[in-house]
Amino acid sequence: MPCLHIGLDDTDSPRKGCTTYIAALLVEKLVKINAKFIDYPNLIRLNPNVPWKTRGNGALCLRIQLEKKLIDKVKEFAIDTVEEYSDLEYEGTDPGIVFFQGRKIPEEIREFAKNTIQGVVKLEKAINLIKKFKAEAFGFKKCRGIIGALAAVGETLDDDYTYEIIAYRVPENYGKPRQIDEESVRRMDEATRPYTFNNVDPATGRILITPRGPDPILYGIRGESPEVVKKAHEMVKALEPIERWVIFRTNHGTDAHLRRVQCISMVRPYHPVIVRGIVSRQPRVIPRRHVIFAIKDESGEIDCAAYEPTGNLRKIARKLMVGDLVEVYGGVRPPSEKNPLTINLEKLKILKLVPKIVYVNPLCPKCGKRMKSMGAGKGFRCEKCGFRSREVKKIAFEEERDLKEGIYVSDPRSERHLTKPLQRYGLEKKRAEVKLIDEWFGYGRSNLVEP
Ligand SMILES: [Zn+2]
Repeated sequence: MPCLHIGLDDTDSPRKGCTTYIAALLVEKLVKINAKFIDYPNLIRLNPNVPWKTRGNGALCLRIQLEKKLIDKVKEFAIDTVEEYSDLEYEGTDPGIVFFQGRKIPEEIREFAKNTIQGVVKLEKAINLIKKFKAEAFGFKKCRGIIGALAAVGETLDDDYTYEIIAYRVPENYGKPRQIDEESVRRMDEATRPYTFNNVDPATGRILITPRGPDPILYGIRGESPEVVKKAHEMVKALEPIERWVIFRTNHGTDAHLRRVQCISMVRPYHPVIVRGIVSRQPRVIPRRHVIFAIKDESGEIDCAAYEPTGNLRKIARKLMVGDLVEVYGGVRPPSEKNPLTINLEKLKILKLVPKIVYVNPLCPKCGKRMKSMGAGKGFRCEKCGFRSREVKKIAFEEERDLKEGIYVSDPRSERHLTKPLQRYGLEKKRAEVKLIDEWFGYGRSNLVEP
């Protein structure tokens, strides 16, 4: 049976919709006609730093096997569903759908996907690839969604990946406050840690699995395996009806957007980077409690910013000193009238700390009391016994740094979808076989499992 890959992107707006929900609706329709899923629906987060991104910048791909005679019908209802559920009246929502037939995704499309996740690509490039590999694309309005739709087809998540189970609300509850038992989320978090992540913000105790907008999502739980996210879902007590739920395979929490560059002069706007340098300007706190410092290497110097919501990361950045060797991870903001090119910190790796040298006044050689300076170049005087000297000098000693080498990540509440949280270090997956569990989507609520 032929394979069909269906990519979708840019259907939602800040006021309505969610591309994952359209994918969830398509899952239902495809299963009804006996299409066989060869992967979980893929939820691919694209470069979060492009200026025209959709809200979460997530694109979707469904990969199925089905009878040849059904292919046209499937394409038709994919297009109909996107048309029906997209916020087409919203300016800036430009949905796109891409169909690609074939078992293997061509290398060039995979490469295109990487560039869409890590950089900036043009619609023209997507259209050229679609023509070259005989894929098909449908776009609405400005068609920008075709870029993400093709990227979702091309990102086969062969390297590291994670799962997310998303539970959807019934339409009559859209826009109303989400009703969920917060205690059950905390219990779930404790029971499934470290195999689920970003459920609760440790600093504020805030529940992170529920989004805030008018979209159809009640909650999403992220984790390392389909089994663990499903178990977690069964432990969360929803206090409102769940219409349906689906498990997605994703690039959440994998750092897929970050590309290491060789030197600071290679840092470009909108391309999230990992780059190494020596702190060249002392961190300073600017209004609204953001912290700014600079790093340099032989090729140049660049500003780095740790914003207030990054929490712990901001506190760490503030303690850096000129001379410290660091690696910074983050999106790159283009220069503006007021600010130069700046890396917005998501992570900070401290590789080597310079010693902190502190100078204090000498002790009086006669009575041992700490002496007072009489002014620059004028020597020191002892207030106790009156001894004066130009010969004695300040004493240098090394004060312990209030900072340790290692990696620091922004607080979960400000973490990007793509940022790899600390607890995932060591849990990365490599080319694991993907096997669909028996029930990877469903309707309504499954029975609650008490922890
Ligand atoms: Zn003295």
